[in-house]
Amino acid sequence: MKKQEVMTLVDKGEMLPLMEEFYTIQGEGFHKGTAAYFIRVGGCDVGCHWCDVKESWNAETHPPTAISQIAENAAKYSDTIVITGGEPLTWNMGPLTRLLKEKNLKTHIETSGAYELTGDWDWICLSPKKNKLPFGRVYDEADELKVIVYNKHDLIFAEEQAALTNANCILYLQPEWSVRDKVTPMIVDYVMKNPKWKVSLQTHKYLNIP
Ligand code: SF4
Repeated sequence: MKKQEVMTLVDKGEMLPLMEEFYTIQGEGFHKGTAAYFIRVGGCDVGCHWCDVKESWNAETHPPTAISQIAENAAKYSDTIVITGGEPLTWNMGPLTRLLKEKNLKTHIETSGAYELTGDWDWICLSPKKNKLPFGRVYDEADELKVIVYNKHDLIFAEEQAALTNANCILYLQPEWSVRDKVTPMIVDYVMKNPKWKVSLQTHKYLNIP
């Protein structure tokens, strides 16, 4: 296939830059402890300085892959598919989620909300980032808000973001992994004083699994 044809298919969401895919345990947030198949899509320009998947940022380093192949593979492993990145909403998620739904698979997304919400989702985890804020209906549609806490100022940001979400959205504060020893006690204290929040830990990292 010619490069231009591939780019057209990527633009339509019929092909996606696939970084990696793996069957594991969802380590974070509401579904922690639950087996799920993860599809990591390349491409992100949000630029979080503490990002632990910087290899995902440049979409051109990840092979454009037909969504039929992605969906077929995913269906072999799990009935719950988590699309993560990178920032999956860099791309049109409509075609992939349609295919996954046709296979009766549950579709979950982990997104910063920095781009327009596309796709048909059973679960939306919104993890907003200060340098490129979410916008539009993702605040109304989010099932969980997961704010990564790197320092105490992030607690103010968390409250600002929580005020924008819908009433049913479950609120999580999660320590950024590299500073977890420092910020976890602060988060625990904050959640006890503000019990609308819950603590989320990256349990997969404690378990040493992907
Ligand atoms: S939005 Fe996610 S993938 Fe993108 S830079 Fe931030 S942490 Fe990394």
